Amino acid sequence: MQYDYSETVEYLLHWFDYNARILRWRIEPSAYYIWISEIMLQQTRVEAVKTYFDHFVEELPDIKALAECEEERLLKLWEGLGYYNRVRNLQKAAQIIMKDYQGQLPSDYQELLKLPGIGSYTAGAIASNVYNIPVPSVDGNVLRVAKRIAGSYDDITKAAVKRQLENDLREIMPEDRPGDFNQSLMELGAVICIPNGKPLCEQCPVMHLCKAFQEGIQMKIPVKSPKKSRKIEDKTLLLIEFQYIEKKERSERLINYYAIQKRMQKGLLAGMWQLPSLEGKKSTLQIKKYLQTFIQCYQNNFDIAIEPLEESKHIFSHIEWHMKGYHIKLIQKKESAKVEDAKAQINELLVYSGATKQQDLTWIQAKQLKDYALPSAFDAYRGYIQ
Ligand code: SF4
Repeated sequence: MQYDYSETVEYLLHWFDYNARILRWRIEPSAYYIWISEIMLQQTRVEAVKTYFDHFVEELPDIKALAECEEERLLKLWEGLGYYNRVRNLQKAAQIIMKDYQGQLPSDYQELLKLPGIGSYTAGAIASNVYNIPVPSVDGNVLRVAKRIAGSYDDITKAAVKRQLENDLREIMPEDRPGDFNQSLMELGAVICIPNGKPLCEQCPVMHLCKAFQEGIQMKIPVKSPKKSRKIEDKTLLLIEFQYIEKKERSERLINYYAIQKRMQKGLLAGMWQLPSLEGKKSTLQIKKYLQTFIQCYQNNFDIAIEPLEESKHIFSHIEWHMKGYHIKLIQKKESAKVEDAKAQINELLVYSGATKQQDLTWIQAKQLKDYALPSAFDAYRGYIQ
């Protein structure tokens, strides 16, 4: 449905002038900062993004640094934000910018759209905020606000509805402040015309223009067609710990090593680290059977304890992981026990069962965890690595 939003412009800009939250990428609106912040803000709230943003730009202060960053470091910097394809695309785009655009984000909307990870929303945000190009930047916040103002029951999950809104807004973009106008709509959606719960209409600068408010239908808008239900995947995670005493000339200390494995380079959480996992939820008996060959060979040298951990769930956009964990503690009881041999046997077991490939397995101490990107999906078990 076409709608004329021209009357809202003046009120929104005025409100934004006095109410915009102070954010680093607003105070220092470089192309790089705006780009990074917009990518981080997809799927993540402003308050959560602030710290990640500071840390990220401190480590990678410009496009060149981003283009050249080691993958492991990059994923680690993104740890906790999730949706890791965003940061992989950021780096791919940075590499293209270094190669084809002399290290500068292109100042053309269509050129921006060609870069990996940049869709109409991000291209609009960069073009309007950095280069003053009057193009809209429509995300879920803007769709909600606009549809409420128009009192429209359009289904905002439909691409055609978003396209129509982009066309409507393109018609009325203020030439002198396109970036501020885009931001005012987003800001209103974030703090006044909020997504969950009742919008704060009494504080809204466009209340007098808002059809949803006038008709009392704010809570019925926006309309979203129901999402497809997610696929459920059951998993068993193995927190395998070796504990032994390392003797040096005059000292000895207790060492704990944990097995982690790198995920495949394609698909969900590609290239990230995880605890070794088996398909399906296994019982303690099944885990004992799984370890049988190890137990037979090493029970004289190691105390072997298998402790079930709490179950946990992680929700991705299309999949849910339902996880059951086991803490498998292998404690050296004889000094003569060959730890490296025992580790190799565990490796063999994991590889043989198809849990991982030999080259993707590694053993780390807790202090090394800071160097490995272990996604938040494994948060329930991370605390056991000590
Ligand atoms: S009046 Fe209420 S529903 Fe309408 S745009 Fe403002 S906050 Fe949203």
